[in-house]
Amino acid sequence: MKKHKPLQWIVISFLVASGLILFNVSGVHSVDVTQNKECNETLLQADEWYQQGNIEEAIPLYRQCKPHLNSEEKTISDIPEPVYEIEELGSGERFWTQALEGLESENQKSKAFVYLQLMTARYPEFIPAHIKLAEFCQKEAEFCENSAKEEQPKTASEVISRVSQFYPSDPGLLKTRIELLAEEGKFLEASIAARQFSIINDDYPEAEAFGKLADQYLGQFEGKIQGELISKTVFTTLLSGGAAFLKNDPYQAVSGLQMIALMLQGESSLGDAYISAFVNDQRSRNQLVEDEEVVNYIKGIAGKMTPYMGRDFEYEYYVVKDPNINAFALPGGKIVVNTGAIMAANSEAEIAGLMGHEIAHAVLSHGFLKMARASFINSSGQVVGSVQELEQGIPFISRISNLMNLAYSREAETQSDILGTKMLASAGYAADGLRDFMVILKEASGNEPTSYLSTHPAPVDRVTYLEKLLVDKGYDPYRYMGIKRHQEIKERLKNLQ
Ligand SMILES: [Zn+2]
Repeated sequence: MKKHKPLQWIVISFLVASGLILFNVSGVHSVDVTQNKECNETLLQADEWYQQGNIEEAIPLYRQCKPHLNSEEKTISDIPEPVYEIEELGSGERFWTQALEGLESENQKSKAFVYLQLMTARYPEFIPAHIKLAEFCQKEAEFCENSAKEEQPKTASEVISRVSQFYPSDPGLLKTRIELLAEEGKFLEASIAARQFSIINDDYPEAEAFGKLADQYLGQFEGKIQGELISKTVFTTLLSGGAAFLKNDPYQAVSGLQMIALMLQGESSLGDAYISAFVNDQRSRNQLVEDEEVVNYIKGIAGKMTPYMGRDFEYEYYVVKDPNINAFALPGGKIVVNTGAIMAANSEAEIAGLMGHEIAHAVLSHGFLKMARASFINSSGQVVGSVQELEQGIPFISRISNLMNLAYSREAETQSDILGTKMLASAGYAADGLRDFMVILKEASGNEPTSYLSTHPAPVDRVTYLEKLLVDKGYDPYRYMGIKRHQEIKERLKNLQ
């Protein structure tokens, strides 16, 4: 087990809980090794050998020029390894015994609560205490709410969210989270959490069962919306009409009710409707890049990652002429990359990292969740919009851009970083591609936030986090970067009108 300082950890947890920081900022290596002429040549040689299958010789060259990441440098994050058995914790046994005693007796709620809160604050790495506290607060919701002090979590969800920021793919925590969400009737979020488990922990025996559970919860969510709408007989005409009101015209007005009807078509059909409207709009303004070489380059990158995406969709990829360093995903696997992002990246691996992150948002249904919120549906499938909101017509394309500008939750971002980096590494790219792209974003942002930053957390936090992820998972940064090919594509883009 790694050495750690509980007090510092608690301070960091508190800052995280209050939304002040994710992790402390450590020294971020500047990434653009291609600017150094000597290194650039070395890396070009490494890429060439790598592509020829001469991997043994390529790796030392990558090592020569790329910054080294190792766990010692990551001391600032200082997150201890998770512990599952009290004997392995090395202390805290007395508190844990008190907590368990309290849980056993009906009239010792306070004892259970106090000791569980104490355990989770003092030994955040001891996962069973968080799970017990969450289960307790689920059962004794009112008691928890009234007894929690200001800095303590008050609900079962808060307990799990707090610790999940540090152990986002811990199987025990994920399972508890899925159960809590399903019990609360939040089927869409339960589906996302189950999907995350099945894809990220795909080497666990329960992975397949969780994949099925994800589909089942998604079905329950859609069924719930349908039920809600059908019970309001006024909507039945609309429902029977399906999405027939869409005229393939991105500027047609679409009401809130019609948005809900669209959602009911399911994730993939929804993505289809959105992407055709978006592409029609971009094409009519000559903003869509139709150059075959550029489009095939992007599709080729995705093609290498396809076997590791973990979900069957009709994936589509587009490039639009937009100087902002940005990319986004629509539900059902429709991915759009701005030319600004391609121009800012130094290698194919960096663009692959960005794409992997966006694909992960689609795979984990994050866009669908965002869309539900924007369509007056809460995560339990209830319609929450006022009549006025539901009847108001807004151009379809405006609804799409409003949606794209809505930020994902920080948790969704972390999930996508994890899954995106997994795809990147599995496809044989330099595993630090996404991490390096975050450094570029940070340097580009300077005083002016780029549009990607308005919907994503600050890249500095993510750089530190991604470095830790690479070290912990043993993902290899000394793999194919694709510098030459990427430079060629950039040259091509410069000449495109
Ligand atoms: Zn994102």
